[in-house]
Amino acid sequence: MTKIHTLGFPRMGQNRELKFALEKHWRGEITEAELEATGKQLRQRHWLLQKQSGLDFVTAGDFAYYDHIANHIQLLGCEPARFGFSGNESELARYFTMARGVAKEQAASCGCAGGEHGSEGTHALEMTKWFDTNYHYLVPEFDAQTQFKLHSDRLLAQVQEAAAYGLPVKPVLVGPLTFLWLGKEKTAGFDRLSLLDKLLPEYKELLHRLAAAGVQWVQIDEPILGLDLPGAWTLAFDRAYHSLQGTDVSILLATYFSPLEDNLSLACKLPVAGLHVDAIRAGHELNAVLDWLPASKQLSVGFIDGRNIWRTDLKKALATLRPALERRQSALWVAPSCSLLHVPFSLAQDAAVQEPVRYWLAGAVEKLEELSILQRGLQDGDAAIASELQANQTAITQRATSPLVKNPAVAARIAALPADADQRGAAFAQRQAQQRQRLQLPAFPTTTIGSFPQTGEIRAARAAFKRGELSQADYTQAMEQEIALAVRKQEELGIDVLVHGEAERNDMVEYFGEQLDGFTFSANGWVQSYGSRCVKPPILFGDVARPQAMTVAWTQYAQSLTERHMKGMLTGPITILQWSFVRDDQPRADTTLQIALAIRDEVVDLEAAGIAIIQIDEPAIREGLPLRRAGWKPYLNWATKAFRVSASGVRADTQIHTHMCYSEFNDILPEIASMDADVITIETSRSDMELLRGFGDFHYPNEIGPGVYDIHSPRVPPVEEMVRLLQKAKAVVPADHLWVNPDCGLKTRGWPETEAALANMVKAAQQLREET
Ligand code: GLN
Ligand code: ZN
Repeated sequence: MTKIHTLGFPRMGQNRELKFALEKHWRGEITEAELEATGKQLRQRHWLLQKQSGLDFVTAGDFAYYDHIANHIQLLGCEPARFGFSGNESELARYFTMARGVAKEQAASCGCAGGEHGSEGTHALEMTKWFDTNYHYLVPEFDAQTQFKLHSDRLLAQVQEAAAYGLPVKPVLVGPLTFLWLGKEKTAGFDRLSLLDKLLPEYKELLHRLAAAGVQWVQIDEPILGLDLPGAWTLAFDRAYHSLQGTDVSILLATYFSPLEDNLSLACKLPVAGLHVDAIRAGHELNAVLDWLPASKQLSVGFIDGRNIWRTDLKKALATLRPALERRQSALWVAPSCSLLHVPFSLAQDAAVQEPVRYWLAGAVEKLEELSILQRGLQDGDAAIASELQANQTAITQRATSPLVKNPAVAARIAALPADADQRGAAFAQRQAQQRQRLQLPAFPTTTIGSFPQTGEIRAARAAFKRGELSQADYTQAMEQEIALAVRKQEELGIDVLVHGEAERNDMVEYFGEQLDGFTFSANGWVQSYGSRCVKPPILFGDVARPQAMTVAWTQYAQSLTERHMKGMLTGPITILQWSFVRDDQPRADTTLQIALAIRDEVVDLEAAGIAIIQIDEPAIREGLPLRRAGWKPYLNWATKAFRVSASGVRADTQIHTHMCYSEFNDILPEIASMDADVITIETSRSDMELLRGFGDFHYPNEIGPGVYDIHSPRVPPVEEMVRLLQKAKAVVPADHLWVNPDCGLKTRGWPETEAALANMVKAAQQLREET
């Protein structure tokens, strides 16, 4: 017998019902009870789908009103004391306070004695990326005072609800070690692993309660087994899982996203009843797992890609799974590689997706169907699934042979690419001298990162144009007006290097994807990013080519309005790759190189149009790092090469900028330097320039624009504050390498604060020039 199950299901609903209900609730338009009713309805629909697809379990506990780690903070009773909850708030109210913070105005009127919420309000829990996905979880906070106390009512209620489907209910929990690992120590010197002994009894009690509720299998996720763990953490696994023995439930330990490697034998030996492995990301380990996992244990093979949207090649899947089944005899489960949280609800019916690409795609609903076909195939043989197999093979073959996917011109170009295509013709020092000659900029040149406020009118015009209600000519005119406004304002402010403001761009990846061959877009392919926020990544299905220039006309128009230098503005190849669903039929490196060549052509065209400064944004370079250190070097090699290919088609006196957002760079500085951008702008103001110290220590060779103000808040920083930051920067970076700019683009800001902040920024730069 083969069992099929899913590790988790998307929460938002087919039409993002949860998003809209949440936002209504936050605006005060619906009550908690109404929100809960929507949540319940969605869970029911999703369980029904699991049942209808023939799954052997319904999975409970994967639903969340914001985030599953936040659920665990409440489940385990470790809401941070700093929120100052009185105990009179409802569970949901506390939950959303942790997720979203208490605003200043609310804090002032909440009446808490002595201002527990502080006059500044209470900031939300920090949010960070869930492993290498684009999903963000709320970070638990730990210190020596942290206590745990089980509050399992909500989870148990959902287990009860799920029982109505007549299938075994399999609740999913984040494991104790992963939960601690993902948290943050709030006091220096405190080791959060020391909380394990306090935490384990709560998990054990929870398992008892689940058993009492009739649960037989509990899925416990420990994805950190796929990381390079410090020894103390690895050792703790044995202790933790030994102590969770002795309840009446069976534990399915779930790992995903990354190979187990040195933790493989540990994972196989832990005293649990089953192990789930990710056979997409770690397919090469499947045989080792088959060797190591005791025959008495269940093996769950994650053979359907939970991180991507391509249909599974069912014939190939069966060819791998059959021998595995033979070896395991009765004990094989099949599942998606990880929770389906990271793929859209459904794609097969999405009419916006270009034909025939649509037939090659599988969202969560389609992935459940694939599971059921695999199960029937494994049990009853190919004949039992003949028509499904044939339909699947047709789609697989069509995709593999489609002229839409393979563009011989792209292949020929890559084959003929000169070995030095990723090298600027001249060394940095030489380029710098020539650029200084050509650009004639003052010391501490001022610039911005690209976007200016995306006002309601801009968004309305774009939407009307997309709906066909605004003609091309009227739309162009509307955008040109915005560009003209941005240029005029920048001239009035006295900024040295101008930007056109990106009014015509909805999104920095979508804008390029829409104009490149090889991309298509769905109407409803939303994936949760955090809370109620969803993103709809472009679908990169084929060889990438640039049929025509993408930004030249807008940039040229902007340049025609001013004597100052207009900076061309592009998104880099790694960021386009990272923020799209990409093909799985060739290495990511190859796809990135194709994008790089398309961007290179754009760079060259901008130069030919007279643009002297071109910025290629790569905010996503850091998040592309593999979860395991051993993968860093190869990744950084091809990623930085792709950037250089995109940037190296120009003359020495054309200045290439790049931009990266807030993240730690210090451990990859040599690679960032190897990108060889003439100027890099980075987000540094929130770290009080601390992030820049690494660049100084490393003697970063090229020019740097450390952000001097945070663009995430409407606050207008005073001149002195920016001067102080610049002086700090000057202490670590040569003064003649310093640029002056905000942390990031300004599209989420309003014009009034933007103008005020930039005016102060220009004054700060002037003050620095006078000092030197
Ligand atoms: N040029 C982009 C902008 O200004 C950069 C955005 C980003 O770094 N995320 O909006
Ligand atoms: Zn940025």
